[in-house]
Amino acid sequence: MQTYLNTINGKAVGSDKTFQSINPATGEAIGLVPISSKEQVAEAVAAARAAQPAWAARPDGERKALMMKVAEVINKNSAYLAEWVTREQGKPLGGVGPDQVPGARFEVWGCEAWTQVPASLDLPVEVAFEDETRRDEVHRKPFGVIGAIAPWNWPLLIAIWQIIPSIRAGNTVVIKPSEYTSIGTLELVRLINEVLPAGVVNTVSGAGEVGSWLVSDPRLDKLMFTGSARTGVKVAEAAAKNVIPVTLELGGNDAAIMLPDADPKAMAMGLFWGAFINMGQTCAAAKRLYVPESLYDATVQALKELAQAMPMGDGMKDGTVMGPIQNKMQYDKVVDLVESAKTEGGTIVCGGAPAGGPGYFYPLTLVTGLKDGNRLVDEEQFGPVLPIIKYRDVEEAIASANRLNVGLGASVWSADTAKAAAVAGRIQAGTVWINQHGMIHPMVPFGGAKGSGYGVEFGVDGLKAVTRPQVISIKK
Ligand code: NDP
Repeated sequence: MQTYLNTINGKAVGSDKTFQSINPATGEAIGLVPISSKEQVAEAVAAARAAQPAWAARPDGERKALMMKVAEVINKNSAYLAEWVTREQGKPLGGVGPDQVPGARFEVWGCEAWTQVPASLDLPVEVAFEDETRRDEVHRKPFGVIGAIAPWNWPLLIAIWQIIPSIRAGNTVVIKPSEYTSIGTLELVRLINEVLPAGVVNTVSGAGEVGSWLVSDPRLDKLMFTGSARTGVKVAEAAAKNVIPVTLELGGNDAAIMLPDADPKAMAMGLFWGAFINMGQTCAAAKRLYVPESLYDATVQALKELAQAMPMGDGMKDGTVMGPIQNKMQYDKVVDLVESAKTEGGTIVCGGAPAGGPGYFYPLTLVTGLKDGNRLVDEEQFGPVLPIIKYRDVEEAIASANRLNVGLGASVWSADTAKAAAVAGRIQAGTVWINQHGMIHPMVPFGGAKGSGYGVEFGVDGLKAVTRPQVISIKK
């Protein structure tokens, strides 16, 4: 079986120890991944440190041109990378572009877009104050070396979100992929290293321990983390010890609220994908749906028809729309939450029992009859299950949306966008979508409120987040 390698200082690096990467649709091993040693993590940080001054000193136009070359490399290798995403993460190949089934090809297409956009953005010098006595300019400087920890749900796209703005701004990066989905990321970084100077982007692979060595390295200048709240706290503690900033994207439990004037049939497709994109394993997916009594039955029926019509299976096969859950840990979590819903009075509308092996398949599941306080409503399921909760008046729905200590995204669905916007403004979340959910965009800042983390990614704000301001104050 082939061993896939890390890239450190532009060179392919293996390790004495490896582990198998597993295809979640078949249970088969698909490749070997090195377990980086503590020395290799230190070596990767040293390589990033050494490469950073020359990388930051390059003329901005040169860095921009190299970033566009990175986008070309991703484009040229898109079929190869998409296959890795499907075989390793599980999402079906799907189509390319915003109107297609959002699978692996969509993820790689997103990688290209999220490379081209930061490549075309600038952070010009801002004049904070000027009069006849002084001129105060704000310049944007790279932090230096960024340590990044990526998760398994969108393994390439989230890696790109961490890598690309960082290097665009003159930082260098060491990234650790999730042990569940390492190979695609190792291959992506190997390929983009063909056009980047050695040491600008480096990888270290392995389990959480390797991540903990990385984030506690005192030579890092900033951390970026996407994953669970539990690990996020550890990463924030490591950042605090070294007095460096951290961007934390910790998921949430997004509420979607249908207002009484919404049309269930017309909105069903948007709601469906808002909840079930990537089998619900998406930080900003709709994870609890609040529906007024008057629309309840029609909404449940419309979603049930869609859920039952989506072919599920091995994502390498044509026509597959839904794949497996990515790993056993997540599969067990979904099973546990659905079982708890049954004992807490929930009614299973469709799905509700494991589909059987091989692979971690679990059918799309809709649950009615639950209320706030039930586990499936209060805990993030991060899987193909949606509780649909009945509400009486809109105030009650807003209170429900806000009652948990998370706030990544939310959505409001209505025929009247002004009415929806008034509700949206009262929801405690980093983004509130109207008549869509989870529709992120590379120009639009994205980040959480409350326990969903802090710091933003994407757009000009995301680029600013990987730089520190330096004031040049001139006496006239
Ligand atoms: P984790 O937060 O444990 O994993 C995220 C990343 O952190 C992985 O690369 C992991 O490595 C790494 N990591 C683990 N321990 C440490 C550490 N001490 N220091 C530094 N890095 C570390 O998430 P899980 O995979 O365990 O998933 C648990 C839950 O998190 C899910 O059920 C879901 O609710 C949520 N989640 C949220 C995501 C989001 O997009 N916000 C994405 C993924 C999960 P490794 O995997 O190799 O151990």
